Amino acid sequence: MNWNQLKGMTDRRRAALLSAGCNDPVHLLDWAPIRYESPAVLMELDFIHPDSGKVSTIAKASHVSLEGFGNQKRFVVHFVHNGRSLEAVWFRGLQWITKSVKAGSWYKLTGSPSVFRGKLQMSHPEIQEIKDPENYTLRTSSENSKYQPVYPSTTDMKAARITHKLIQSWISHIIDSLNFEEFIPDDVLKDLRLMDLRSTYRAIHLPQEFRQWEPAFERMRFSELFLFELAVMRLRGRNRSKVIGNSITEVGVMTRAFIDQLPFELTEGQRAALRQIYQDLRSGYQMNRLVQGDVGAGKTVVAVAAMLMMVDQGYQAVMMAPTEILAEQHFRNLERWLGQIGLSCALITGGTTGKKRDEILKGIKEDKIPVIIGTHALLEQDIEIPKLSIAVIDEQHRFGVLQRARLLAKKENPHLLVMSATPIPRSLALTLYGELDVSVVKGLPAGRQPVKTIVKSDSNREQVYQYMEEALRTGAQAYVVYPLVQESENIDLKDATAGYEMLKERFPAFKVGLVHGKLRSVEKEANMNLFKDGELDILVSTTVIEVGVDVPNASIMVIEHAERFGLSQLHQLRGRVGRGSTSSTCFLMADFKRSADARERLATMERTNDGFEIAEADLKLRGPGDFLGTRQSGLPEFKYADLARDQHLLEMAKDIAERIIGEDPELNRAEHHRLKIVFEPYLSERSKYLKMS
Ligand code: ADP
Ligand code: MG
Repeated sequence: MNWNQLKGMTDRRRAALLSAGCNDPVHLLDWAPIRYESPAVLMELDFIHPDSGKVSTIAKASHVSLEGFGNQKRFVVHFVHNGRSLEAVWFRGLQWITKSVKAGSWYKLTGSPSVFRGKLQMSHPEIQEIKDPENYTLRTSSENSKYQPVYPSTTDMKAARITHKLIQSWISHIIDSLNFEEFIPDDVLKDLRLMDLRSTYRAIHLPQEFRQWEPAFERMRFSELFLFELAVMRLRGRNRSKVIGNSITEVGVMTRAFIDQLPFELTEGQRAALRQIYQDLRSGYQMNRLVQGDVGAGKTVVAVAAMLMMVDQGYQAVMMAPTEILAEQHFRNLERWLGQIGLSCALITGGTTGKKRDEILKGIKEDKIPVIIGTHALLEQDIEIPKLSIAVIDEQHRFGVLQRARLLAKKENPHLLVMSATPIPRSLALTLYGELDVSVVKGLPAGRQPVKTIVKSDSNREQVYQYMEEALRTGAQAYVVYPLVQESENIDLKDATAGYEMLKERFPAFKVGLVHGKLRSVEKEANMNLFKDGELDILVSTTVIEVGVDVPNASIMVIEHAERFGLSQLHQLRGRVGRGSTSSTCFLMADFKRSADARERLATMERTNDGFEIAEADLKLRGPGDFLGTRQSGLPEFKYADLARDQHLLEMAKDIAERIIGEDPELNRAEHHRLKIVFEPYLSERSKYLKMS
């Protein structure tokens, strides 16, 4: 197929298409319409229904009335034809419309019908009086009428006068002259009742009926997701069969002792995750597991038990956290927990230097320290962990792929456990972390009370402070958080610092502290510790407290400029409270001028505490790319599929891809022949993005 075969193709038009990214005529097939314009056909009123899309009909105005008062005023016209009726309503332009429509006259109406209070209705239809209704032929169905696809277009394309009709005629020609080879295996096509490829393109570009394009789009979505999941499964299958990991045969004494000495029972969610981890560790292959769980679900305990399972067999384990505060907190917990069972652990952060660092490194190298915790400072070349066999990465979305790879490279194929408190909708987890198995730590430890969340505007500030004051008097502690959303850290800092000064004045009876990213780590740590030990009542901070920090006695949180935060981040922050047994409150202070999205976010926060529900909402609001905070997230760009909407299809694609790759990993069977031809080039393009560790 070449450009000259397309009627009306000129150099100018070709250049316009090229610059729009269409460098082969065949690519026009995937020039997906953004919508369809309905045919200008007159329909018999009787055959119009709420699904008809935009239609025209003729009918007699039998009754007109002006209803309501003031802003609510509307003009309602009752139309009839052959015993059927339709109501037309106008809310605007009443002056004009009331003069234009007279009871007893005939009109041609064009609009999108809907049903309101059981009646067929059009609001603001186009209207034209007609004198000779008997001369109009009305259709009883939309058969044979044509829907015009409306294609995305660039200014160049418009200037070259490439109309929607012209694109459609080119595509029509391409469809007729191409030999389509269906690549989705027959049984899959049949089981899922998917359209074949040629019909799909016809339905998308040359639809004969209203909504005929919908099953066609569905097929395109499926095939995109299917190819993607095949690629994931193929790469993962290869990793699997290759990588042998140190395996264990039982849960050892120290792991058991650790669990026994905890002052609480493990939750069912924690147990389930541990069972899956145990299966991985005894499988003989390297574990690659993502543990997801809402903030406060108790993932740390799960990770520590996993580490101890390996330590029990004489290996070393390492845990990397994204911030010093978090690494230090883990270290303090582990020191306490492991101390009870006679194990030593060490902390390595940017602040670990000199003689102390040398000593720790020596201890690790000589296998005297089995458990190591740290920040990315752990990645330094000179840190050797000779018997490393499991690496845990906490809050893994804070680390890059490379950092993860560097940690794993410390030793051949240690087991990998990554933890995320940013609940990721399953569809994203499947696509992003296709090479990982996913465990979800469901539920929260018993006795937790959901955090009550209230949106307040600046004018209610004093009310919020009074509430806070009362809680502080009873011994509670409070966080006040300022966003880190401005381009310049200095501006944010000013916000937090000013807030700190103001709060000191407003709460003279209480001790107020400040933590932000610009403080030296010793100061940060000192303030955090003061807060943890109850020496500070109010902690003002930028978002440095976002991840992982655990102070059960803190039961009030005030988030300033809450409208500027994303949903997931708000949820993360809120997770800092509600960790103890008393009930907690989170105030979202928001500007009055809120965008629709911001209003939706705040309302979602008020409505639910469930991180997964919030993540789903966030994904829908922001779309997959922004949800993850960066466009370079390694997430595939789909043309038709939408990860926020097509989760069901994705699961199906995953199951089918898993089965096919399981049965025929190289796609050598005859029934997979055409699939292989399409898949191989797809895979080599994709593997660049998919290979992670
Ligand atoms: P996250 O999943 O957000 O990392 P953490 O591991 O920090 O949560 O746990 C939050 C708090 O809950 C900690 O104080 C931890 O000791 C406590 N915790 C963990 N598991 C349980 C449990 N099964 N019952 C009661 N408290 C628990
Ligand atoms: Mg955590």
